[in-house]
Amino acid sequence: MKQDKEIPLKEAAKITKGPYRNFPMVPRVVFGPGSFDQLGEILGPHRSSPDAPVIFLVDDVFTNSALIERIPVQFNDRTILISADKEPKTGQVDALVSQIKEDFKELPSAVVGIGGGTLLDLAKAVAIMLNNEGSSAKYQGWDLVHNPAVYHVGIPTISGTGAEVSRTTVLLGPEKKLGINSDFTPFDQVVLDPDLLQGVPKEQWFYTGMDCYIHCIESLNGTYLNAFSQSYGEKALELCEEVFLSDISASESRDKLMMASWHGGMSIAYSQVGVAHAMSYGLSYLLGTRHGIGNCLVFQHLGEFYPEGVAMFKKMMKKHDIQLPKGICEHLTDEQYNTMIKVSLGMVPLWENALGKDWAKYITPEKLKSIYQKI
Ligand code: NAD
Ligand code: ZN
Repeated sequence: MKQDKEIPLKEAAKITKGPYRNFPMVPRVVFGPGSFDQLGEILGPHRSSPDAPVIFLVDDVFTNSALIERIPVQFNDRTILISADKEPKTGQVDALVSQIKEDFKELPSAVVGIGGGTLLDLAKAVAIMLNNEGSSAKYQGWDLVHNPAVYHVGIPTISGTGAEVSRTTVLLGPEKKLGINSDFTPFDQVVLDPDLLQGVPKEQWFYTGMDCYIHCIESLNGTYLNAFSQSYGEKALELCEEVFLSDISASESRDKLMMASWHGGMSIAYSQVGVAHAMSYGLSYLLGTRHGIGNCLVFQHLGEFYPEGVAMFKKMMKKHDIQLPKGICEHLTDEQYNTMIKVSLGMVPLWENALGKDWAKYITPEKLKSIYQKI
């Protein structure tokens, strides 16, 4: 895609030499409609004793639903229903871990997260913290976790974030919103059952799906791009176009969106996200704006950075009759703008990926304010 004239060629910043990243991937994955029913069989060999429960962390949108009845609860296993209305917090993770440690005499055999990015991230974080001392806030950052996590399984019920495949769990802490990025974070097992996506409200389907689309655009147009992330990014982008712009059946669309999310997550694993994510972190920090919609709110105004990507995004919005809220930043004070700008400018690797090493020459506080003011 074309670049704004003022911004130098991105080629200059491309990574050309090692050392290269050596990152873990999810070692086991099941894909297929109805595959959720294999969960009992999957967990069986990992049950260390009848006193070591499996903890199921489930989005409370499924309260009283048929899915709850299908959870393969045995012995003293516990199902904990959790709201996804707010993004996961370090305090919430710490409270869950203390509750589990108090209630059971043995460490759990497994932690299973069932839901969207919120529940998947909670499950990853709880599995890590059951085996690591102190508050989860201590581990927000890169490679700060020392002990392997408890065996953990991710089962997405909405697709797009790539949290099912990523090496991070994004948490809002007392001081920062940052992931626990570690080799122990990825799930040991993922169950991709496209049937579980049935029932996602249209707006939420679009916002979370666009998270995947934006991952692709930011990865494919970034300076960190390499053949590894490009191959996943191009496949995910192709799948997003089919899901959001062509007229395929509902079941084919669910299958494809689930795989798009997976590939999009794999693409950013070996590259990075860009301008929309850097700015949406600011929105989320100040206003609590959720990840998917926050990215959309920013991305619609990023035509100068991603001209073709934004044009296609607008086509997708039109096709699905999506109206994004307006006037979000209308009444913000200068101090509030400055907070968002500071958080956003702090996302150095994202800016570097988007615009190259000299990014700070082009991305000034005034520039960011002018974009936020449009939202
Ligand atoms: P979510 O988990 O926040 O859920 C969004 C809404 O959809 C909730 O109201 C939820 O109850 C509902 N929902 C989920 N499944 C449903 C279903 N089958 N039927 C009906 N309603 C359903 O959504 P998300 O967009 O997947 O996740 C956002 C979170 O993911 C943020 O906290 C963000 O920080 C995180 N995230 C993590 C990563 C990562 O790599 N770890 C990457 C991107 C985003
Ligand atoms: Zn994202």
